Amino acid sequence: MTNLLSRFSYNECNISEVGKGTLEYIRSHLKHLLPTMSGNSLTVSPARIVDREFKQPLLCGPGPANYWPAMNDALTKWVISPMDDEYFWVLQDIRAGLQYAFQTSSPLVLAVSGAGHSGMETVISNLLGRGEKLLIASRGIWDERACSMATRYGITPIVHSTAMTSTFSLSELEEQLKVHRPAALFITHGDSSTGSVQHLPGLGDLCHQYGALLIVDTVVSLVAVPFEMDRWGADAVYTSLQKGLSGPAGITPVAFSARAEEKIKNRKHEPPFYFDMKLLAQQWNCYGDTRSYHHTLSPPLLWALRCSLQELCREGLEQSWARHTAATARFHQRLQTMPVTFLIPKPEDRLVTVTTVVIPKEYDQLAVLKHIRDKYNIVIFRGLGPTVGVALRIGLMGVNATLQVADQVADALEDALLTLKKGKL
Ligand SMILES: *Cc1c(COP(=O)(O)O)cnc(C)c1O
Repeated sequence: MTNLLSRFSYNECNISEVGKGTLEYIRSHLKHLLPTMSGNSLTVSPARIVDREFKQPLLCGPGPANYWPAMNDALTKWVISPMDDEYFWVLQDIRAGLQYAFQTSSPLVLAVSGAGHSGMETVISNLLGRGEKLLIASRGIWDERACSMATRYGITPIVHSTAMTSTFSLSELEEQLKVHRPAALFITHGDSSTGSVQHLPGLGDLCHQYGALLIVDTVVSLVAVPFEMDRWGADAVYTSLQKGLSGPAGITPVAFSARAEEKIKNRKHEPPFYFDMKLLAQQWNCYGDTRSYHHTLSPPLLWALRCSLQELCREGLEQSWARHTAATARFHQRLQTMPVTFLIPKPEDRLVTVTTVVIPKEYDQLAVLKHIRDKYNIVIFRGLGPTVGVALRIGLMGVNATLQVADQVADALEDALLTLKKGKL
């Protein structure tokens, strides 16, 4: 395809160069615009936006992860208009890829514009209205966020907490469902603030038994840890592109079960216009070829999501789960030879994408992060929410879930602990 804009030049549209006829047209019809275009009348001058040197780091925190190599191509593909056939083919590819990623045959599957939080906002605001009860199983920062969102919508949050180093048993959740009879239960599958993974099989049935819908945050677990939406009876699920899917943040997959669809169809409340699943479903052709315009989806982000799903479908979920497990197992094995401990005591509760590592008190945590960044150009994170000052968060996900990267991070951490010990201890 030829590039229609290959001849673009700033000069071509200089007022002094447009030619006599056009200039006369401007003078007679657009005279009022000329003073603003002649300079000296603006109160704010152009900003100095300079290019800076920036070497791509290896991103081994709790997200974002580095991109798939194919992403460079995807992000520079041509712009598609929200009325073109191509656009709807891309949406169709994405929905099919997402049904595979979530393991659902539900039609109400699409991606909302926004980072992971927009998925949280979408599921909560579409399913629950003012005065309805949302039971929140809380063990990290994401559950706190769900609680603030619910409160803003006038939903009644009921928070059931456990220690940040553990997860929930089905029997304690059943007790909560029985006592409170909430409209829905919110739970985080992989918690990147604490580094734990919640066991989910059986929870969907329990929720349904007590008349509740099951909402699951799979932002940092999907494609890395087994998750099967239909088989496990999850009713509303969201993930993100920037973690296991190794793409840019800014577009967020969501999926709703038949039960959740029913609830949306019969709800009495209105969610925010921007996140209304009834309207978005018409834009994404969830129920036939409706093609209705809702808002302009970002073309590079659509191409990016499509690219990640293409990578996933090529590799296969089972292989992706196995690769993430192998990489993290290698990293954990290496940690066992260092003077550090796991924040999460039970190995079966440890999240495969994000490991929370406790280093001895004598070390300055920020100095460790700085050493690893400055010497190895590897980014790892400090704690977040309940783990601030308690543990470092080290992530291996998406394209970074390899034995090689596991060793690179382990080498860097080992070196930091040795080097910084000399001066400090
Ligand atoms: C990263 C993360 C989020 C938030 O994602 P954003 O893209 O930053 O909005 C939500 N939940 C979990 C479990 C996460 O790890």
